[in-house]
Amino acid sequence: MADLPFPRSLPEFQKLFPDDAACAAYLEAAKWREGFVCAHCGTAGEPFRFEARPGVLRCRKCRKDNRLTAGTVMEGTHTPLNVWFWAAYLVSSQTPGMSAVQFQRQLGLSRYETAFQILHKLRAAMVRPDSDRIGQIEDHVEVDEAWIGGKTRGEGRGVHDQTLIACAVEVRQRDPASPLNKRKGGRIAGRIRLSVVDDRTAKSLCGFVEAAVNPSTMVVTDGWNGYASLAKRGYEHLSCAENDDPQVAEDYLPMVHMVFSNLKTWLKGTHHGVSPQHLQAYLNEFTFRFNRRHYPFNSFRSLLGLAGGNEAPTYASLYSGDWHHPKCGGHG
Ligand SMILES: [Zn+2]
Repeated sequence: MADLPFPRSLPEFQKLFPDDAACAAYLEAAKWREGFVCAHCGTAGEPFRFEARPGVLRCRKCRKDNRLTAGTVMEGTHTPLNVWFWAAYLVSSQTPGMSAVQFQRQLGLSRYETAFQILHKLRAAMVRPDSDRIGQIEDHVEVDEAWIGGKTRGEGRGVHDQTLIACAVEVRQRDPASPLNKRKGGRIAGRIRLSVVDDRTAKSLCGFVEAAVNPSTMVVTDGWNGYASLAKRGYEHLSCAENDDPQVAEDYLPMVHMVFSNLKTWLKGTHHGVSPQHLQAYLNEFTFRFNRRHYPFNSFRSLLGLAGGNEAPTYASLYSGDWHHPKCGGHG
């Protein structure tokens, strides 16, 4: 369901959402899968529509307006819907972050402030932490911690300015028949959680696991005693003694180390390092992008604040014409 084709280029995207009416039709279908129901009086049935105001549907019974943007990031702004859609597309399809100036130029906006506000609101969706816990019965979860950021050079030994973070990664087994199965023992990374932690004590590390991972999940860690009480806390716990042998770590914790390595590259390349007080926001953005990397349409919808990823109309249904606007007909 979530594994849908997503517009791979701006021309494709433009074809799908050419104007405000097309965006409004998408929002309407996202909001009312079974057809319009008035939010004020609960009456179902075809509402009044206004060509000049595609974002408004007026109830035929109580005559009140229902706004398509209610409850979304677009609510209460004067920016046209298709600018929002283009903005969300740019933010969700480009891996590195984008500056407000680049954004203004790409969207052809005359005011810098508008670009800044849109970018700010879309980014807010990314830095809001995903709150559900990861880990499913059939998977296990790798957990490890790492020092990140800061400058150590020229400041003597140690880890000055570095921040300790913890990571949990769902590990799934690839289909044995897949040609990719040889890589990393056939394992693939599912969802992740990342958090700044105070220190390497059991309170901090097990506290992180309890907030991030479903109980009774199998959790794999290294032999550090900060994780020793996981079994007592309701997890199935496998700890592997690394003994400074990198091969053991690679065998037991390949995914979490891959995530740390990608994260460090992303922070360094995109943001030229991040100060400790902003690190958690960047961890959340990285998590948002990582967890939706195969489902860009989900991130697009999350950015716009459209609820219920699975209930929203899909790109496929839009494109094949299964779903169509009651008035303006199908697309494609
Ligand atoms: Zn009504």
